[in-house]
Amino acid sequence: MKIKFLDLKKQQSLIQDDLSHLAAEIIEKGWYIGGSYVERFENDFAAYLGAKYCVSCGNGTDALELILKGYNIGAGDEVIVPSFTWVSDAEAVHAVGATPVLVDIDRHGYNISSATIESRITPKTKAIIVVHLYGIPCDMESIMLLSRKYGIKVIEDCAQAHGATWAGKKAGTIGDAGSFSFYPTKNLGALGDGGAVTTNDENLAKSIQLIKDHGQESRDNHILIGRNSRLDTMQAAFLSLKLPYLDEWNLERERLAQIYLQGLEGLDLILPVNNPERVFHLFVIQTQLRDQIKQYLNKHGIETAIHYPNPIHSIQIYSLGYTLPNSERAASEVLSLPLYRGLQDKEVEYVIKIIKQFFS
Ligand SMILES: *Cc1c(COP(=O)(O)O)cnc(C)c1O
Repeated sequence: MKIKFLDLKKQQSLIQDDLSHLAAEIIEKGWYIGGSYVERFENDFAAYLGAKYCVSCGNGTDALELILKGYNIGAGDEVIVPSFTWVSDAEAVHAVGATPVLVDIDRHGYNISSATIESRITPKTKAIIVVHLYGIPCDMESIMLLSRKYGIKVIEDCAQAHGATWAGKKAGTIGDAGSFSFYPTKNLGALGDGGAVTTNDENLAKSIQLIKDHGQESRDNHILIGRNSRLDTMQAAFLSLKLPYLDEWNLERERLAQIYLQGLEGLDLILPVNNPERVFHLFVIQTQLRDQIKQYLNKHGIETAIHYPNPIHSIQIYSLGYTLPNSERAASEVLSLPLYRGLQDKEVEYVIKIIKQFFS
């Protein structure tokens, strides 16, 4: 049996006709940037999350950068960032001229803890970027306590956590601001690039709206030096079409994840946390035999992936010359198994069978 790590075509197939009709409608209308589809998606997404504001932008990395800019974070400022994440989190901090302070993840889990954060706070610290990695929410209660104690902004990177909650509140509405990516592989993905910032902070929403539109308060009235970062009309329309399916598709990923969890129980593996508030962006197992299992699965037609093989502090251009043992260990032991809407139960069962075979 051949099993792809991800099959976006399968994910899209249920709504293929609706997507095609919508695309045809937009081509026909001739309005390709901004307009009512973009406004509608911003409203839809804010309503889904329970956020006051949603400002769309070009991608998830821009969303992070726009939040930092919106808070006037720049040269001389420090931003605390986990090292075990996608590179965007450190990249965005560099892009505004501030310094990312890379910290280790928890020994048990993949998120950063408030204790680790607190040990790295200095008078220069302006913000913390927390990443709900793989869809697992960070401990927002203790992180928000720290934020109040030190007067530091909390930015939630929700690129892998569309629909996840903490104490019943959606990720992206708990910290000062949330950044989202709609890269096609995310739990809510466009058919191209896309991103958004969510916040309850009216001033931040206004600043970001200005910054992402060339600093224009109104047409040709540039009141600050901004940049260009847009969610295309076509992508906004696709996202509004897909948003009503998000919960259902998250539940389907969850159902498949439960099959994996049951089937892999008892093996010498660290299995993903089974927290009902998380979403399954990725199904990540951890073992010292990672490379051997990956090869064995591949030999049996099963594609897997590694998120991420290099913690940011170990990438040469970001290198800070120190070690972060939990991040390094995770990077050498994690393995993401196939998980997406459209993956069949029998395919999940086959993956389980081959992993069991590996261990026997
Ligand atoms: C995907 C992702 C991003 C970046 O999103 P883009 O839209 O590709 O710029 C940022 N952070 C994390 C954790 C991601 O997974």
